[in-house]
Amino acid sequence: MNTLDGNTRPVFSVVIPVWNEQEVIPVLYERLVQTMDSTGESWEVIFVNDGSRDRSLELLTDLSRRDPRVKVLNFSRNFGHQIAITAGFDYAEGDAVIVMDADLQDPPEVLLRMIEKWREGYDVAYAVRTKRVGETKFKLWTASAFYRLIRYIADVDIPLDAGDFRLMDRKVVLAMRQLREKNRFMRGLSSWVGFKQVAVEYERAARYAGETKYPLRKMLRLANNAITSFSHVPLQLAMYTGFFFAGLAGLGIVIAVVLRLFGHDTLTGQATTLVSVLFLGGIQLIFLGIIGEYLGRIYDEVKNRPLYLIADAIGFDAPVAPNSVTPDSLRTRQRDGQSSHVQLAERLPASKV
Ligand code: UDP
Ligand code: MG
Repeated sequence: MNTLDGNTRPVFSVVIPVWNEQEVIPVLYERLVQTMDSTGESWEVIFVNDGSRDRSLELLTDLSRRDPRVKVLNFSRNFGHQIAITAGFDYAEGDAVIVMDADLQDPPEVLLRMIEKWREGYDVAYAVRTKRVGETKFKLWTASAFYRLIRYIADVDIPLDAGDFRLMDRKVVLAMRQLREKNRFMRGLSSWVGFKQVAVEYERAARYAGETKYPLRKMLRLANNAITSFSHVPLQLAMYTGFFFAGLAGLGIVIAVVLRLFGHDTLTGQATTLVSVLFLGGIQLIFLGIIGEYLGRIYDEVKNRPLYLIADAIGFDAPVAPNSVTPDSLRTRQRDGQSSHVQLAERLPASKV
């Protein structure tokens, strides 16, 4: 870890997004220390407090006071899981960076297997769930359907049943820092950057305590971000559907003309007309909506707001790595483990620093 002369970076950084996880933090910390100490290397953990309303921040600040390896980024509000991971990547100093959930669904022991792969020379080790315990049938089914759909339509190869739980080499992290898109699907981006990747299988445990922070609404938004960020298929679908119905209508015209010429007046009745008009109207609205989704995302990019705002950065040492992108406001050492009030600022992408 960063020593007083500030010349070394930790070998491992663990990034953990936290939103209202007060029940799990003490146990999480204990298991993490056990696991990471067993590697025999230096390490740091960066907790990203994503606008928790419970005592999470207090507990984390306390940990940071007692253990200098614990660092806390406190967001100014809830920005969401994917953004919290992004911030962790932006501030992580380790040669390898590991992302895991706070709730111990991603058992810290699996980290050791990822680290092994990293030592073998892989740049990314992502965890694949062979089994998930303690989740609803609905969640299992929708997750499984989603992973298969995204695999089918995405431009990049996104592995099946892999979450955000993964280890990345520093060079991958530096690549990830350059991707500043606003509606983020981190595991897609992690596939997009490439490098040598390998899967590590594990059984996903049940949440240690508390409730899932991913209700259906958020899951749908994540799925939506994943699809629109990595595929143009929904947009192309409009064209295919258009061709199909134009063809069908062409055929209908021919049939109508032929029937009329031969004196059969069978195409009477308003129901057919009404139903087909409503049907096509519906389809057009659906595709307008799909275009709207992409348009909204373009708008988000154009506004170019920062991805997140940090209210406090606690426990950070003066970073020294030449490619460190830690902003100046963070470079001053913290005194007495007190939280510093860092200016509201987003981390600049590595390329701009
Ligand atoms: N989380 C977060 N911000 C949010 C939602 C979740 O930082 O807006 C964190 C949460 O504290 C946890 C991780 O993201 O560490 C994954 O959330 P959760 O375990 O609830 O998701 P699930 O495992 O149910 O998909
Ligand atoms: Mg969870």
